[in-house]
Amino acid sequence: MSKVAIIGGGIIGVATAYELAKLGEEVILFEKNYFGSGSTFRCATGIRAQFTDEANIRLMKYAVERWEKLEEELGFDINFRQTGYLFLATSEEEIEAFKNNIRLQNKFGVPTRLIDMDEAKEIVPILNTEPFLAGAWNPKDGKANPFKTLFAYLFRAKELGVDAREHTEVVGFEHEGDVITAVKFRSNGKVESVKVDAVLNAANAWAPLINEMAGLKRDLVPITAYKHQLVKTEPLERGQAEPLVCPPSWDDAYIIQDGEDGGIICGAGIEHRAKSLDDYEPTYDFLRGVLRYATMIAPPLRYAHIVRQWAGFYAKTPDKNPAIGKLLDNFYIAAGFSGHGFMMAPAVAQAMAELIAKGRSKVPLDWEWYDPYRFGRGELRSSAFQIG
Ligand code: FAD
Repeated sequence: MSKVAIIGGGIIGVATAYELAKLGEEVILFEKNYFGSGSTFRCATGIRAQFTDEANIRLMKYAVERWEKLEEELGFDINFRQTGYLFLATSEEEIEAFKNNIRLQNKFGVPTRLIDMDEAKEIVPILNTEPFLAGAWNPKDGKANPFKTLFAYLFRAKELGVDAREHTEVVGFEHEGDVITAVKFRSNGKVESVKVDAVLNAANAWAPLINEMAGLKRDLVPITAYKHQLVKTEPLERGQAEPLVCPPSWDDAYIIQDGEDGGIICGAGIEHRAKSLDDYEPTYDFLRGVLRYATMIAPPLRYAHIVRQWAGFYAKTPDKNPAIGKLLDNFYIAAGFSGHGFMMAPAVAQAMAELIAKGRSKVPLDWEWYDPYRFGRGELRSSAFQIG
């Protein structure tokens, strides 16, 4: 048994702590704020396998299979529901692009199909069908509650012996050559250190700072925080817009009915580079822009009250694919998840835990695709299909 330190108590860090503990490893998990306080509790709940490249489709196909069994495995309600994702085309060229994506997704067992607007209207009763020509529909995509999911993983991780520390910030490392031997952390104003055998950087938007502490260049894995926002309406009658509905050509705007209270969550790719890593202030231009799109997608939303607006980060690499793998002998990274870290977590956490504990994994994760050293080599992947 070795002792693994995980830095970052978002969904990736917490789920990996659970997976490592399941494999019998000793784990100490550090979160500088409260668990979920980074991007995880700010996300739009969406889970999809409708990507446009083989690596992300295969990873998410596997992740969805894990999501399907997660409630049973963790023994808690996480409100995972397969209510689908519906992408909407506004031009013939876009329909052709949808067809190509569908062919690729079907090749790897993802059952997406092209549907007409009559069927789309049956699936989303408040949809304005007029601007759209066709939809790409995968009923197996879905959503889950990020709060319940993180706490379910955390509860089981602690039960398996994970030492999970909130309000405890990692501030540095001790090294012998390239090997990290101890993690230095600050809690209640006091700095202490703990001996470890391996370290996982799961700090997402903050990951470059952790890499720097490990003696690497800050931009070795270039991750930039972009402010992404959401707006939520008052609860609507269930079944109005259960799937995530997105016309990608409208600034990737989307709506999705919250699985818990039925409010409509509205997002869009109206993004700003975050001014700092605590720049969470919602903006009026987003509110105006997103509501314009949301009410064009679903006109009855004009009459719904807005109850909340909030902001978080898409931690983006230049190709919008995360960096997952080994950086040094005993230093690993899983960070830079753009808008996809919540949905990918069950698969990535398992893969990462198996890599750290056994040196290999049975998860269909294409390590070369997500190689954290690819940026330095100038080997960008095709851009991961990001929405919102
Ligand atoms: P985070 O949740 O950001 O956790 C990283 C943690 O590291 C933070 O809690 C931070 O405090 C901690 N940390 C940093 N430095 C230190 C340190 N020195 N010591 C200790 N702890 C430290 N994804 C989806 O899959 N589906 C969606 O529908 C979706 N919608 C989104 C909508 C919005 C508006 C936003 C902002 C994001 C959305 N995402 C979505 C993206 C998703 O939220 C993230 O990809 C995911 O939460 C990343 O999880 P994480 O664990 O990597 O990072």
